[in-house]
Amino acid sequence: MKKFDYMEKYGYEQLVFFHDESTGLKGITCIHNTTLGPSLGGTRLWNYETEEEATLDVLRLARGMTYKAAASGLNLGGGKSVLIGDPEKVKSEAYFRAFGRYVQTLGGRYITAPDVNTSAKDMKFINLETDSVVAIPEKSGNPSPATAWGAFHGIRASLKEKFGDDDISQYTYAVQGAGQTGDFLIGYLREANAKKIYFTEINDKHIEKIKKKYPDVEFVDPDDIYGLEVDVFAPCALGAVINDKTLKKIKAPIVAGTANNVLEDEDKHGKAVQDQGILYAPDFVINAGGLINVSHELTGYEKKKAFNEIEQIYDRLLEIYQVAKEDKVTTTQAAKIFAERRIERIDKIHANYIKK
Ligand code: NAD
Repeated sequence: MKKFDYMEKYGYEQLVFFHDESTGLKGITCIHNTTLGPSLGGTRLWNYETEEEATLDVLRLARGMTYKAAASGLNLGGGKSVLIGDPEKVKSEAYFRAFGRYVQTLGGRYITAPDVNTSAKDMKFINLETDSVVAIPEKSGNPSPATAWGAFHGIRASLKEKFGDDDISQYTYAVQGAGQTGDFLIGYLREANAKKIYFTEINDKHIEKIKKKYPDVEFVDPDDIYGLEVDVFAPCALGAVINDKTLKKIKAPIVAGTANNVLEDEDKHGKAVQDQGILYAPDFVINAGGLINVSHELTGYEKKKAFNEIEQIYDRLLEIYQVAKEDKVTTTQAAKIFAERRIERIDKIHANYIKK
């Protein structure tokens, strides 16, 4: 791939390759945009088949973080790291400390966090070498309750947009996936007296857990979740669950959940859901609760303050729905426009020098 052409096309700032011989560490950090503040994004450990594949992944993921942070109202930019290796073999204290030292060389321009195959425990090792790391176990902890809290308020905003009323108790819900975020989301919906909740799962342990914890929440088979006559379909499992096959079945007028990359093809299926009269809550906005939560570690973590900020996902989604209507675009395109406008506006106000 022509890296500079790609970086120029999408406005990347920096792409850094690093290697540590003693631990076998091999990785890439990408900083997409730091107009709003230091870039923040997780570290993904994956056995990439080629360097090309790893490079493309880090570039794509870093750019996604720019949109996510900007649309979430955070003063953070977008960045990401990928480490190339077998997660079963490479992990050790020295490995993550070696990585932490490379993060430190970026002088605060990039802050790391857990992602696929890296955990809060690994962040503790990184933290021994750099302060540019969040999601330390003793600080904000597990992000899942925060992510679900944001999705809960995003669902309220979507109800308001669709029906003019955001009272959770008046509506019915179908939650796909009852792992970390799905479990918490079901809990929040129940506390708000949801009229009816259905859930689906493929993991027997999780099915039993939910049945025991919430006997009134009804289990349905994985294939049956799409066709339910409910007001909200909440994807909280895998990506790409809105596709040509499932769209034909979906009856819910709202799709809003915690999962990433819900639309198999962002443009095609974004337009298709809209044409079908479905309101789609853009994933990177509605599931930003975890990111907002960890970002509070940078200024001293207080759960109440973080959760209050997460609730603002409600107002943000309503603004994005407004952009979609005004600009006649899909809600995902509107979220990107919303993020780009914020970056442009903040960039402009910094054009003149003022001593801080
Ligand atoms: P998780 O692994 O804890 O839970 C996902 C659950 O979905 C699992 O229990 C799994 O068995 C179930 N599942 C998988 N395929 C299924 C299927 N076809 N039908 C029904 N259930 C199925 O993951 P999580 O942390 O809850 O994350 C869920 C989604 O939210 C992911 O897409 C993740 O990227 C996204 N997300 C999570 C967070 C967070 O804070 N955890 C933050 C942002 C985005």
